[in-house]
Amino acid sequence: MQYTLSYWERETFYRDIDIAVIGSGIVGLAAAIHLRTLHPNLSVAVLERGILPVGASTRNAGFSCFGSMTELLDDLTLMSEDDVLAIVEKRWTGLQRLRALTGDTQIDFQGLGGYEMFTQEENAVFQKCVERIPDFNQKIGRITGHPEVYKVVDERLPEFGFQGVQHLILNQAEGQVHTGKLMQTLLQKAVDAGVRFFNGFEIKRLEDTSQGVEIETAAGWTLRVPKVLVAVNGFARQLLPGLDVQPARNQVLITHPVPGLRVKGCFHYDRGYFYFRNIDGRILLGGGRNLDFETEKTEDFGANPKIRQALTELLHTVICPGQDVEIDTWWAGIMGLGPVKKPIIQHVSPNVTVSVRLSGMGVAIGTLVGQEGAEMILEAK
Ligand SMILES: Cc1cc2nc3c(=O)[nH]c(=O)nc-3n(C[C@H](O)[C@H](O)[C@H](O)COP(=O)(O)OP(=O)(O)OC[C@H]3O[C@@H](n4cnc5c(N)ncnc54)[C@H](O)[C@@H]3O)c2cc1C
Repeated sequence: MQYTLSYWERETFYRDIDIAVIGSGIVGLAAAIHLRTLHPNLSVAVLERGILPVGASTRNAGFSCFGSMTELLDDLTLMSEDDVLAIVEKRWTGLQRLRALTGDTQIDFQGLGGYEMFTQEENAVFQKCVERIPDFNQKIGRITGHPEVYKVVDERLPEFGFQGVQHLILNQAEGQVHTGKLMQTLLQKAVDAGVRFFNGFEIKRLEDTSQGVEIETAAGWTLRVPKVLVAVNGFARQLLPGLDVQPARNQVLITHPVPGLRVKGCFHYDRGYFYFRNIDGRILLGGGRNLDFETEKTEDFGANPKIRQALTELLHTVICPGQDVEIDTWWAGIMGLGPVKKPIIQHVSPNVTVSVRLSGMGVAIGTLVGQEGAEMILEAK
């Protein structure tokens, strides 16, 4: 819908915005709340194209994950150990800040642990993980304060009833949240903090000028504000094509309630490409991007039949073998990835700052990425 702004709209609703935050996912909301907490007189507006946030934050699996063993070993092939540990620390700090901001009860935080599953074919990688456990426990223990973060718990396999799984490594410091409640709580916190919200507000183009940042809307009119924080994660290249952020789609299913459900906790399968958990007596299962990497490099929320087929098979053969489990619904969400799992928090021009590229770990790191972006935009002259 194209239209021009009326005098009333311009002079009341859109007047005197000091900082516009684009995107109302975890990052945008954490940033907006932080800005108002640090400077209660600042007028902060969140501009969101969806009726609700529509990217990853309302569509994820709710794992408060900060690093499974295979993932960290993979990261060590691309980054120095100091860099990998620095990111783990940021995720851990982000999670503590999120929990402090929202409260555990409000987001149903449960420290049920995260399990990494290994099949017979993955024996070599399992052995590599086992060798590194003492070292990781020492280094990640310093960050988390947990004396034994990782441990092999093969004896617990019969408890879950999986098929074809040979080994389990438990991350005792991992937990899970209720994604919907988390986002609802953050939205309410932002409203309570006096953040102004504009939904259905799609931005087509940004231009940093000497008179402020011009925000061109999909409705055809332009708004000018002094400063902008871009928190659109997987969609960043639509606004800032030079940013190294790759959109990556993820498919998710949820089952109907499963009588006598044995799954309890967060589970990572096939080096974390597949993941599942219990929620409300159901199984939430997602992932499989590795089966069709190229097709899933998209900002489109559509389905991928090949991946959905693989997820369905995994559910029936490995997770709930021989059980009568029915799928309730499917959805997809869009993540923002890069060559390394480091978020981008930086100025892209004097008055535009970005907080993007959460690398599929936004539940833990998102609050910190938003807050650091907020502090950076405040420094902009
Ligand atoms: C299926 C799935 C499962 C996941 N599971 C987990 C998990 O278990 N644990 C974990 O830690 N992480 C998980 N993640 C990743 C996590 O959800 C993200 O890292 C995090 O939500 C990113 O938050 P964000 O605020 O940066 O981005 P988003 O939540 O994507 O928010 C960006 C917002 O910007 C808006 N926007 C985009 N373009 C524009 C525009 N032009 N104008 C206006 N608004 C715009 C979008 O509508 C969106 O609301 C998962 C992701 C997916 C997709």
